[in-house]
Amino acid sequence: MEKKVKLKRGSEFQPKNGHPWVFSGAIAEVEGKILPGELVTVLDSRERFLAYGYYNDKSNIRIRLLEWDKSKKVNAEWWKEKIKEAVVHRSHFNIDDSYRLIFSEADFIPGLIVDKYLDFLIFQSLTAGIERVKDILINALISIINPTSIFERSEGESRQLEGLDPVREVVFGQEIPEKIIVTENRLRFYADIIHGQKTGFYLDQRENRELVCQFVKGKKVLDCFCFTGGFSLYALKNGAKKVISIDSSAPALNLADKNVKINDFSNKDITFIEGNVFEELRYLRDKNKTFDVIILDPPKLAPTVSHKSKAIRAYKDLNILGMKLLNKNGILATFSCSGGITRRDFRRILYNASNDTGKRIQILKSLSQPTDHPIRLSMPESEYLKGFICRVL
Ligand code: SAH
Repeated sequence: MEKKVKLKRGSEFQPKNGHPWVFSGAIAEVEGKILPGELVTVLDSRERFLAYGYYNDKSNIRIRLLEWDKSKKVNAEWWKEKIKEAVVHRSHFNIDDSYRLIFSEADFIPGLIVDKYLDFLIFQSLTAGIERVKDILINALISIINPTSIFERSEGESRQLEGLDPVREVVFGQEIPEKIIVTENRLRFYADIIHGQKTGFYLDQRENRELVCQFVKGKKVLDCFCFTGGFSLYALKNGAKKVISIDSSAPALNLADKNVKINDFSNKDITFIEGNVFEELRYLRDKNKTFDVIILDPPKLAPTVSHKSKAIRAYKDLNILGMKLLNKNGILATFSCSGGITRRDFRRILYNASNDTGKRIQILKSLSQPTDHPIRLSMPESEYLKGFICRVL
C-alpha cells in the first residue's frame, strides 16, 4: 500500500483538474517517511482519493501526479502502456528520422524525456520518481522500439533540484557514434548527440524553420543564435541571397559550417560570426547594416518565473535591436523558449519594443511547438515555445 499524502483545502483545484504538479505549500499531511521518488496516494482535504503520484521531499515540486483513476495500479505494465501510447502517437505523423519520442509531463510521464535520433535513443531521467523505475522504462523502450542503443544523458539543473547527480553512459546496446547525420525536411544535419547542447539538435524548431523560411527568397537574412545552422540552412535552401549567422558556441558553428557543405550549398552565400548576439547586433547597428529577415532564437532567458523580470528586459533589448536592424517591411521571426514567459508576456514585450522603436508591427503567424512536443492542456507550462513571424513596417 502506498503511503498517503493529504492536500490543503484551496490547493486542490489544479491537481484535481489534471495538472501534474503538487507544490510543497499545497501539502497538509504526510504519512510517515517517504523515500525520494516513492509512489504515494494523494488525498484531497476531505481525505477522498485524488490521484497516484510520486513524491520527493528534496524538490519544491513535491509530488508529480501520474494516475487519477483509483482502480488503476501504477506498476510496470502501467509505465509500459504510457510509453506505448507516446510512441503510437508519433507514428501518426510523417516526421523524418529524428524526433522527440517522449516529452515528460506533456506525454503523461513526468520526468522522462526520450529523443530518437536515427535508431539511437537519448534517455533523460529528470526526477527521483523516474530513477526508481528506470529499468522498467528502459526495458519497455527496448521491447517497443528495438533501438540500436540507448544513451543516458541525465544532466542539467532540474536534476540538481531533485537532489540527483548527472549520468552519462550507454545503458543499452553498442557505443553511440559522437556525430551522426539526421535528415529534416530533406536537409541533412550533423548532430553531436553525446556532447551537443540539449540532445545535440533543436528538434523543436522543425516546423518553424519551414514556416519562417517561406519569407527569405532573394533576401538578406540574419540568423541570431544559429547553433548548428538550423534556420540558416533552410534559408539557403529557400533561396536567400545572403545569410549571416551568429552564435557564441565555436563547436556549434563548426558543425554549422559542415552542414553547409554536406547539403552542397556554397559557403560564399553564408558568413558565420562567433560572438555574443547582444553585442554583435549593436555592432551591426553602429555600422548601419540592415537586413530583410531577422531570426531571434535565444536560449532560455527565463528558465523559471523567478528569472522573469530580468528576462523580460533581455527579450525586449534583443527585439528592439532586431527591429532597428530591419529594412522597411522586413520580417522578424522571434522566439522565446522560456517556461517562465507566457505567450501573452511575449506579445507584450514585442508591443513595448515596437513602441520604443516607433515601428508598427503586424503578426503574420503565431508559432509554437511541433507535433512531437505536444502541449498538455491541463498544464499551461508545457507550452514552452512561443514565436511570432512579424512584419515590421
Ligand atoms: N536556432 C537554433 C537553436 C538555438 S539554441 C536552431 O535552429 O538549431 C540557442 C543558441 O544560442 C545556442 O546555440 C547557444 O550556443 C547560443 N547562445 C547562447 N547565448 C548566446 C549569446 N549571448 N550570444 C550568441 N549565442 C548565444
